[in-house]
Amino acid sequence: MPLKASHALPPKSRLGQNFLHDHAAIERIVDALGPLDQRTVVEIGPGRGAITDLLATRAERLIAVEVDPALAAALRERFAMTQAQIMQPRVEIVEQDVLTFDFAAASRQIGQPLLVVGNLPYYITSPILLHLAASVVASEPSPLDAAVLMVQREVADRVTAQPETRDYGLLTVLCALHGIATPLFTLPPDAFSPPPEVHSTVFRWRFAPRFQALDLDAASFSRLLKSAFAQKRKTLSNNLRAAGYTAAHIAQALHQTSTPPQARAEELSLDQFAALHHALTAAQ
Ligand code: SAM
Repeated sequence: MPLKASHALPPKSRLGQNFLHDHAAIERIVDALGPLDQRTVVEIGPGRGAITDLLATRAERLIAVEVDPALAAALRERFAMTQAQIMQPRVEIVEQDVLTFDFAAASRQIGQPLLVVGNLPYYITSPILLHLAASVVASEPSPLDAAVLMVQREVADRVTAQPETRDYGLLTVLCALHGIATPLFTLPPDAFSPPPEVHSTVFRWRFAPRFQALDLDAASFSRLLKSAFAQKRKTLSNNLRAAGYTAAHIAQALHQTSTPPQARAEELSLDQFAALHHALTAAQ
C-alpha cells in the first residue's frame, strides 16, 4: 500500500500535533540556531516537516526524532527521494520517543556538541526539558551546545523568569543551572494548524552547566530545590522543615547565608541556593 503524504494524515491531539505554518516564524527559529553548515542538528518532533525542510537545506547533518510511525515513514520517504538525487545522506529520520533518545551517544558518535530544535509536543514539555538537562549533566564535555525550542508561553515565562517574580520557580532554577535561557518571540494560536488553546513562545537555551563552578552534586542539589519550592505559599524555612531538616539546622544555614528567616524560595537566585546548599550540607 503506498504511503500517505504527511498532509493527508489527520493530526493526533494526544501527540500534541499542532503544525506550524507561519513561514516567517520557521525562518526565525532556524536563524536562531546560528550558522549550520558545519553543525549537526537534532529536531524533536518534526511532524509534517515544516521546520525540517529548511533545516535540511542548511545543516551539515540533521537527525529528526519523531514518535508517530506514520509521520516518520512519510518524512523518511520524502527525504530518501531528495537524498537519492544529491547522493548525500544527511537527513536521518529516527522513529523514537525523544525521552529515550540518547543525546550524549549521538554527540559522541558525531564528535561534536549538538544543536537541538523543536516545536515541542506540549503534553511532555517539562519531561523534555528535564531530559535535555539530564543529558548535559551526565556527560563531560556537554553533548549539547544550544537548543531553540517552542513551548507554551506560560512555560517559557517560567523558564526565563527573574527572581521575585510570579513565574520564578523550580523550572527557572533548574534551567539556569544548566545554561542561559533567553525568550525570542511569541506566536498566536493561529500560526498553527490545528490552533492550540494557548500562545506559544520560542526561547534559546545555551547550555553552560554550572555544577562544577558552584561545586554542586546534581542529585542532592536537585532534591534541595524540589523541597524548597514544594509549596509556593510556604516560607523557605517551612518547606525545608517539611523535607526533614531541623529548625536549628535551617536557622543556622539561613543566618550563614544572610537569608532572611521569612524568605520564600522565589526570592533566591541560583547562587544563593548554592550557598544555602553548602551551608545545609556543612552543618549536617
Ligand atoms: N515540528 C512540526 C511543526 O512545527 O509543525 C510538528 C510540531 S508538533 C507541535 C509536535 C510533534 O512532536 C508532532 O509531530 C508529534 O507527533 C511529535 N511527538 C509527540 N510526542 C513525541 C515524543 N515523545 N517523541 C518524539 N516526537 C513526539
